[in-house]
Amino acid sequence: MRKYSAFAVAREAFRHHKGWERAWTSPEPKASYDAIIVGAGGHGLASAYYLGKNFGITNVAVIEKGWLGGGNTGRNTTIIRSNYLQDPSAAIYEKARSLYETLSQDLNYNIMFSPRGVIMLAQTHHEVRGYIRTAHANALQGVDTRFIDKHEVKKLVPIMNIEGPRYPVLGGLWQPRGGTARHDAVAWGYARACSDMGMDIIQQTEVTGVRRECGAVAGVETTRGFIGCKKLGIVVAGHSGVVAEMAGFRLPLESVPLQALVSEPIKPCMDVVVMANTVHGYLSQSDKGEMVIGGGTDSHNNYTQRGSFHHVEETVRALVETFPMLSRLKMLRQWGGIVDVTGDRSPILSKTPVEGVFINCGWGTGGFKAIPGSGWGFAELMAKGHSPLTAEFGMERFKEGRFIDESVAAGVAH
Ligand SMILES: Cc1cc2nc3c(=O)[nH]c(=O)nc-3n(C[C@H](O)[C@H](O)[C@H](O)COP(=O)(O)OP(=O)(O)OC[C@H]3O[C@@H](n4cnc5c(N)ncnc54)[C@H](O)[C@@H]3O)c2cc1C
Repeated sequence: MRKYSAFAVAREAFRHHKGWERAWTSPEPKASYDAIIVGAGGHGLASAYYLGKNFGITNVAVIEKGWLGGGNTGRNTTIIRSNYLQDPSAAIYEKARSLYETLSQDLNYNIMFSPRGVIMLAQTHHEVRGYIRTAHANALQGVDTRFIDKHEVKKLVPIMNIEGPRYPVLGGLWQPRGGTARHDAVAWGYARACSDMGMDIIQQTEVTGVRRECGAVAGVETTRGFIGCKKLGIVVAGHSGVVAEMAGFRLPLESVPLQALVSEPIKPCMDVVVMANTVHGYLSQSDKGEMVIGGGTDSHNNYTQRGSFHHVEETVRALVETFPMLSRLKMLRQWGGIVDVTGDRSPILSKTPVEGVFINCGWGTGGFKAIPGSGWGFAELMAKGHSPLTAEFGMERFKEGRFIDESVAAGVAH
């Protein structure tokens, strides 16, 4: 595939943009592959990419029931950070964050990574203690965060009211190299690189069954017929329980909707990402000027990828004391995605009871930031049967009581 460059843009400008190649192909499925990944979200595509790049496994298909990136990957609010408390989490999220720094160059695709900094506000004394503890843990893990006082918060975010009557801002956990990236571009960049390595990205094809022979995977039934494989990676956030059931095992997680909304575009007024976990809301400003706003998950299990009015009201009401200017903004649109949430708020990257079947799920409300690290570790797990990045995230931890409790870091999530 021809490289994207400033020179290519100039050349195409002269040719009226008629010479661009398709970014990825849409082939007919082959009879079988060395590995199949179900789900062309960020995690599935990154897993396929690192299978090829790091292990030379390129006879791979990524099978997607809709369009690539159309699940949570194209619906999230794009926050990237790695300020988690537990060592295994900090390792995989920091690996992901550091891969994001050079991902545009690695993929030759501009993913618009913007390390503008992320603050998690402390609005209760309990949160102050919790975040100081996390900052100490991060220092030991080599993750660059620090606890800042309320005056530093105000300096970073002048539009904030730090003297709110109910929840005054007491400080915050600041990660200067956290930020955002363009979510679609992450999926598109990985897809283009996978296609360039000769992998097949098969869209509009639903996996409807998993065929097993003598306890091992033989392939998948799809809406376009049977496709054989030696290894199968299930990477279908929001539908992990459904596809796991097809393979004959159950997962310790539940699926719930998570919603977000954006305001009308306004002039630049906030150049960091702010999360307010006590009141349950967070916001950042997109490159187009919209305020991107989200809150907590819906309280009921559901597979509806839609927004609801009560969510707009609840989330904006939560944030308006700290960000009074929000009350003057018109909200432009809202949407929802389905996220898989585990009991300890940590993901599952694991072998399964079926030989050759691997599962990558449970990223809950905060898996966008993890995409490169998750793909890196999951590819290693699929290729070698073990990865230091995923070792602690096996599904057996729920049986053995070895939880990786991230209920604070993933409190409001994202
Ligand atoms: C509103 C919202 C805001 C969020 N904000 C953030 C944030 O700010 N920061 C952050 O880090 N994370 C955030 N997240 C979470 C993040 O989006 C997800 O954790 C992440 O995108 C999951 O990626 P994925 O590749 O695992 O799943 P997805 O992108 O959902 O991909 C899974 C794919 O599998 C496909 N699929 C399902 N079943 C089948 C089948 N039977 N056959 C074939 N294909 C199938 C689906 O169509 C889908 O495309 C947010 C999520 C939502 C919904």
